[in-house]
Amino acid sequence: MLTHRTEAEKLLERREQEALSLPPFSEIVRGGILTRYRRCGKPTCHCATTKGHGPSHYLQVTIKPGKTEQILLSEDMLPVAQRWVDNYQRWWEALEKVSEVNRQLIRLRAAELSGDKETTGKKSGRAKAQSKARGSEK
Ligand SMILES: [Zn+2]
Repeated sequence: MLTHRTEAEKLLERREQEALSLPPFSEIVRGGILTRYRRCGKPTCHCATTKGHGPSHYLQVTIKPGKTEQILLSEDMLPVAQRWVDNYQRWWEALEKVSEVNRQLIRLRAAELSGDKETTGKKSGRAKAQSKARGSEK
């Protein structure tokens, strides 16, 4: 019981930390940064023997299987897009981490509910409210 509570507290703390470390939700974009060099085709141009003209940076996003979109990024937008791409990744990772924490909390809570015989009035009240909510969904 006590171990459950301490473990739950640790999990809640981890969840809190995760939430606090997140960047603003409005500053995210799915995709990746693509860097390209281009050859203009003139045989005498320096690009024929070097990497080519560039680099040019694009935000590349897969819209659906087989369909990608590329948006050319200006010098100003490159760091912004890069940050938003990173932020998207961090939100995604946070979703997974918090989900894992909550899975463990659900397990702990389930263990508490099934093992704990000193059920308080509060708890049974909550259980009643939950079954009522479930019933209203139908
Ligand atoms: Zn060239």
